[in-house]
Amino acid sequence: MPLPIVYHPDYVAPLPDGHRFPMTKFRLLYERLLVDGVVDEAQVHLPERSPQEWLELVHTAEYVQAYCEGTLDAKAQRRIGLPWSPALVNRTCVAVGGSVLTAQLALQHGLACNTAGGTHHAFPNYGSGFCIFNDLAIAARVLQKLGLVKTVLIVDLDVHQGDGTAFIFQDDPDVFTFSMHCEVNFPGTKQQSDLDVPLLEGMEDDAYLQTLASYLPDLLHRLKPDLVLYDAGVDPHLGDRLGKLCLTDTGLFRREMQVLSTCVSQGYAIACVIGGGYADDMQALVYRHSLVHRAASEVYRQYRL
Ligand SMILES: [Zn+2]
Repeated sequence: MPLPIVYHPDYVAPLPDGHRFPMTKFRLLYERLLVDGVVDEAQVHLPERSPQEWLELVHTAEYVQAYCEGTLDAKAQRRIGLPWSPALVNRTCVAVGGSVLTAQLALQHGLACNTAGGTHHAFPNYGSGFCIFNDLAIAARVLQKLGLVKTVLIVDLDVHQGDGTAFIFQDDPDVFTFSMHCEVNFPGTKQQSDLDVPLLEGMEDDAYLQTLASYLPDLLHRLKPDLVLYDAGVDPHLGDRLGKLCLTDTGLFRREMQVLSTCVSQGYAIACVIGGGYADDMQALVYRHSLVHRAASEVYRQYRL
């Protein structure tokens, strides 16, 4: 049984021409993984659309209904930054379903990867920064509800603070939120994660990886989580339009190997979502996102999961 990968063609919803969100990257990422032989179609799992009850484990019924029906006011819609359409509603719910499925597969197999997800700026009653529903938070709550996990560690290495996730779990002792992000980046007002590691602008590979190594092993040892949810945002890359950190492709690959090996070698199940990444060079961006799947395939083989 090879590494489980989660993908759905509906991960891409059409956006108006020239929109700054790189929506096609999800399909291009999947195609790239196939073409490069990282993934075989036989290992791909197709998610189902998240039912409304799952969304409401994290979000208010009012917000879920208003978003899904397209009745959010203009200000709330602008804060999300993606133009509403029925196709985008479907896309959003399928991507959440994908992260839940990835988490379930990770529990069964030790490691699994989505090819979307990481919408960590979504709060219970509003969306923000291209994030509508918080897939990480929903996955944690659904698996708890199904009785599959008790404690969950969310490792958020997107360059932006996982503010929505931090807020959602601020009073929840069973979900630990760890966010390592660029201090001077979006969101302007930070929330308080269980552990925040703000980084200085311009940080490079070695300093970044050493910082990560000084926190993650201790956290695992202390919490002994039933599941790790990993937001592998690639926006800390030096070529990212919204990033402000200076990681290279090699640095990102080393990061993915470090996170995955640290968890898997100690027997912790880990589910990966791809998180943020913004660049005009779509091929370069897609390659950066593929690094987590390349690292996961490697680690999955190494540890014979
Ligand atoms: Zn980001």
